[in-house]
Amino acid sequence: MNVLVINCGSSSLKYQLINMANEEVLAVGLAERIAIDGSRIKHETIGKEKVVIEQPMKNHKDAIEMVLAAIVNEEYGAIKDMSEISAVGHRVVHGGEKFSGSVLITDEVKKVLEECSDLAPLHNPPNLMGINACQEILPNVPMVGVFDTAFHQTMPKSSYLYALPYELYEKYGIRRYGFHGTSHKYVSQRAAEILGKNIEDLKIVTCHLGNGASVAAVDGGKSIDTTMGFTPLEGLMMGTRCGDIDPAILPFLMEKEGLDAAGLSDLMNKKSGILGLTGISSDFRDIEDAAAAGDERAILGLETYCKKIKKYIGAYMAEMGGLDAIVFTAGIGENGAEIRRDICKGMEALGIEIDEEKNNVRGKERIVSTDNSKVKILLVPTNEELMIARDTVALVK
Ligand code: ADP
Repeated sequence: MNVLVINCGSSSLKYQLINMANEEVLAVGLAERIAIDGSRIKHETIGKEKVVIEQPMKNHKDAIEMVLAAIVNEEYGAIKDMSEISAVGHRVVHGGEKFSGSVLITDEVKKVLEECSDLAPLHNPPNLMGINACQEILPNVPMVGVFDTAFHQTMPKSSYLYALPYELYEKYGIRRYGFHGTSHKYVSQRAAEILGKNIEDLKIVTCHLGNGASVAAVDGGKSIDTTMGFTPLEGLMMGTRCGDIDPAILPFLMEKEGLDAAGLSDLMNKKSGILGLTGISSDFRDIEDAAAAGDERAILGLETYCKKIKKYIGAYMAEMGGLDAIVFTAGIGENGAEIRRDICKGMEALGIEIDEEKNNVRGKERIVSTDNSKVKILLVPTNEELMIARDTVALVK
């Protein structure tokens, strides 16, 4: 059974075709610049040469049509006919409080997703466009929605409520939701498998450190707290997002800088984080290079970044009443050996001991703590697409 996994953004669409008989990836690709000049698809069928197909795409339907054409292309495609696609799994960012797991997409589900769009105006509308486009082109193929928020629906109320008037939670759903759930779930499960333990017996802190970044406390396989909140802005400092700040800074800046709501949102989401603090870049490779060359703000930026993660590890260790494993994943978590080291450094008294030699690795599943470390430290490359495909199979079977 082949499952097509779609992750649809406002101007891009990532996809993977996976043969679920053996969980083998058949093709991967990215449609870029949808509805912008210079649209193109980068497609790769595993075992064949990569191709770049440049062709205008005026909307997401055009993009899906081109993706499917690439997948069945005689020369560089992966399958002969679209009928070989049994189901489509869609990544959906916000499922609100309605979805604590993946769902088969129906008209009713789409209505709820539209309601959730208010909560994720940048993400849910393009996710829905992807779903609608797929349904038009593949009308008889079942579709499943897999939500970034779902895994965190097990958080207790005391983790997700803000100390705002309770009516605001009831009226607008203002609460913490958490994101990157599919990734936190995948890497915590893999960590348990790697350690040869039952996940129900483990207290794990998962650190998803990519362009967006979040840490989660996974107790017995369930998320009980996470750093992202009402939106993916809360918590850690990220590439361009500020994470936690004193909320009183906002009215202060409105007054001093004359910023309105859109200006503040732009400042906090796009101009802050490691980019804002260092003035160099949002890409951590650039920051590491600048720090190695002695740039003081780059050094400070990395210190600030690591300290914040360390604080959350400590907080979640306290919240769970112990810790068995720390897992690092996503672009920075998988590749940034020095960042992993600096986060863990100084926590030896808490039983957290990284092995510098084992830690000197990129993008591979590996235990990177010392043999004596009470808390195991693991590097686990994330695989959200596989999780989406697995959920899709489970629901359409
Ligand atoms: P996204 O959230 O967009 O999926 P990724 O998980 O791909 O993000 O992570 C992107 C981030 O990973 C970038 O900030 C990039 O700097 C960082 N990254 C990639 N390779 C390295 C590396 N070798 N060292 C440090 N950071 C890296």
